Amino acid sequence: MIFSLVERAAADPILGLTDAFKADKRTNKVNLGVGIYKDESGQTPILKSVKMAEAKLLSEEISKSYLGMEGVLAYNTAVQGLLFGEAHRVIQDKRVFTAQAPGGTGSLRVAAEFVMRHTPVRTIWVSDPTWANHQNIFSSAGLEVKQYRYYQAQTHGLDFEAMIADLSSANIGDLVLLHGCCHNPTGIDLNIEQWQQLADLCLEKSLVPLFDFAYQGFGEGVEEDAQGLRVVANTVPELLVANSFSKNFGLYNERIGAITVVGNDETQASNSFSQIKSTIRGLYSNPPAHGGLIVSTILADSGLKALWLSELQEMRERIGQMRTLFVQSLKAHGVTQDFSFISQQNGMFSFSGLTKAQVEQLRDEFGVYIVGSGRISVAGMTKTNMPVICKAIAAVLA
Ligand code: PLP
Repeated sequence: MIFSLVERAAADPILGLTDAFKADKRTNKVNLGVGIYKDESGQTPILKSVKMAEAKLLSEEISKSYLGMEGVLAYNTAVQGLLFGEAHRVIQDKRVFTAQAPGGTGSLRVAAEFVMRHTPVRTIWVSDPTWANHQNIFSSAGLEVKQYRYYQAQTHGLDFEAMIADLSSANIGDLVLLHGCCHNPTGIDLNIEQWQQLADLCLEKSLVPLFDFAYQGFGEGVEEDAQGLRVVANTVPELLVANSFSKNFGLYNERIGAITVVGNDETQASNSFSQIKSTIRGLYSNPPAHGGLIVSTILADSGLKALWLSELQEMRERIGQMRTLFVQSLKAHGVTQDFSFISQQNGMFSFSGLTKAQVEQLRDEFGVYIVGSGRISVAGMTKTNMPVICKAIAAVLA
């Protein structure tokens, strides 16, 4: 019997929290753990643009035959346009290839498997802190995961000097995981000058950026949020991008993302892409169609695209309003510590600085669930649950 040897897995730090939340019998409980957008009524709605694209697909789709390993071709082209802008030099030079993949997670895993199987690189650098699943994804593929400093607790800001110092000690070819925008969990991003400096370092030390781009459009806008990636792509010869449409199209359970490779020239990029496809063949053969068809249908139709952009703007602005309200409401509940830094953070999350013990107290005494690192999903806040949240935080800080 082999299964008797299997030890129980530790609960996932984020999804395990959702299980605990579901089992909690209290009626005024609030889940600010997992990064899911909620509207003012606390629902995670299907976007209108998505529903309209689905209606079109339902009437027009004529076959469920397999896709190729790279998925929906029109989708892959549309992804490149969103990431780089249609006129970017990597597209003009035909140095970029994209394969549809199952969500950001699946795309990251394909990237890691490709690197492990087809290059001599064995190390990836991730920020400290980073999204809790990065370690799991990369070490599962066999990569060694090292950390570079990123967050400075005293200032609640970026420690850019330390980031550069740590990455300066990386070896030629090492992968560097970079959050394209809306860094998870800190909400703190690089400015354009810092992106350029980082790109110059990657060029000088021959480091290979792997962008994790899961929140395009949740920072300042779809184009604005891609500036870091575009600056880096203008500077370095090779990079990878794993992007996700879970959040910005609200397509969480369709598992839709993509892995994009940029090579030094067309041949190198195309050879690498052939091996990415072969890696996909060995992992899941080819992706499911629905998510890719939804996104490509929306992006190919100017009316649907405009609707999607306005729906994304609405989500972005609601989160911004919740950030402001959160800061004001903490003050109103008697919190004297300065939380104004929360208004400066980007994306769905706020890195609160709450300790592990305070996080546990929030959950046990008040039914407010946040991730152990102190990360709060602002996207889950509403005007209705705000008083419950702020009262609880005020109590644990007192
Ligand atoms: N990367 C980051 C930084 C994330 O926060 C997430 C989701 O929370 C993902 C990737 C994974 O996205 P997906 O749900 O599309 O796999």
